[in-house]
Amino acid sequence: MIFLKYLDFLKKIILANFKQLKRPYKIFLVVTKSCGSRCSNCLIWQEKPSKELSISEFELIAVNLGPSLSWLNISGGEPTDRDDLLEIINVFIQKCPTY
Ligand code: SF4
Repeated sequence: MIFLKYLDFLKKIILANFKQLKRPYKIFLVVTKSCGSRCSNCLIWQEKPSKELSISEFELIAVNLGPSLSWLNISGGEPTDRDDLLEIINVFIQKCPTY
């Protein structure tokens, strides 16, 4: 079963190089712009976090992606600054089952 999962993932990666997929297999999700660090190569910490997506908005994204999503890259800011980070992850686990 795990072999089929990786095979499907590989197929999506290869196909994405030749055509536009109906839905993305990979998304880069900025869950917050909040960050306690002050890295010189990044200015995101100078922004005031605002209009962050709610759980129901993440759920809407996840439902629309469904099983096509194989790769979720969670980023920020500092994602752990969100108290509901585990809830966000769980939404994608529940709504985007690959098998
Ligand atoms: S988001 Fe990352 S790179 Fe930017 S300030 Fe925070 S820790 Fe540094």
